[in-house]
Amino acid sequence: MPKREELVLLRTSERGVWGQCHQQWAWRFIDNLQPRTSSPPLEFGTLWHKAMADYYIPGKKRGPHPAKSFKLYFDSDVASKFRLRNSDAEWDDALELGVAMAENYVDEFGRDSKIEIIAPEMPFAYRMTDVGGQPFWVVGRFDALFRWLTTHEYGILEHKTAASISTAHLQMDEQAGTYFMFGRLWVKELQRRLIIPKGNLLELDMVLYNFARKAKPDPRPRDDAGIYLNKDGTQSKTQPPPYFARVPVYRDEEDSKRLVKRIRQQAWMMRQQREGKLPIIKTPSSGYPDRHCEACPFKAMCELHETNGDWRSYAEMNYDVEDNYAEYREDLKDAIHIDGT
Ligand code: SF4
Repeated sequence: MPKREELVLLRTSERGVWGQCHQQWAWRFIDNLQPRTSSPPLEFGTLWHKAMADYYIPGKKRGPHPAKSFKLYFDSDVASKFRLRNSDAEWDDALELGVAMAENYVDEFGRDSKIEIIAPEMPFAYRMTDVGGQPFWVVGRFDALFRWLTTHEYGILEHKTAASISTAHLQMDEQAGTYFMFGRLWVKELQRRLIIPKGNLLELDMVLYNFARKAKPDPRPRDDAGIYLNKDGTQSKTQPPPYFARVPVYRDEEDSKRLVKRIRQQAWMMRQQREGKLPIIKTPSSGYPDRHCEACPFKAMCELHETNGDWRSYAEMNYDVEDNYAEYREDLKDAIHIDGT
């Protein structure tokens, strides 16, 4: 039996990459190749998450203004300022954009006084076995456990930034299903360990996606109904898409059972591929609807690989070899461990 530290870790985003293209997954999670240049959208999301974590501290009061935190983390975390494209296809300075979004967020939700944060960001680890009986850990982090003070429902908060807010996928979203499934067990474990008080039986009601669109607020004045106005005071025919959306996502026992089965099957297939017993097959796609090659961090290398070019030299020049799970291995020391086998 391998020791806890030696077990394979698996997070939802790895399963997502594997589901898109096994070759992309193999380069990233078997060979551990990481692009030397960081991805601005990923950096931006990380800064936003940190600013939100500072704002949603335990209790009913909020922490520092997220605009202040965003600037703080931007200055300390981002060595060289990057630029990224917003939903209006304009190039925008990321710091200015993040600060403007955070100010707009607080204008929209204020101190969010109907939300009580029960537990802030916390790692979790859930021990499972794949369908061949090999143990592994499902790992991840929840942004926060919260309670609506109006309805007394409990939820896991999940902060998201996006160029445009799209919610149609959430009913089939693997992350939402995973968070719901493991969130319920996590909450029970926190109660069992008295990390959160038992009190009334606490059942997880939802995963709440808290979307923020990557766009600066429209500077035009608004009427009482929030409609943007023309210079002459009439309602404009051109209204911006929503800047924010809060979407509760629900799952039931049946969803969760299927999810667990799927994870166990995927983990087994990944293991077979790692051990060379199943092939690693590319899934090229750059057309509608799934344009994952366009966003793939290995696109240029893959083109060389496809034409039998010198992709190995390209890999050496453009990628570092880094453990994808370094932070998660650290987390494992403090994570709430749940033995699901
Ligand atoms: S470019 Fe496309 S086919 Fe190639 S590894 Fe990336 S996702 Fe797979």
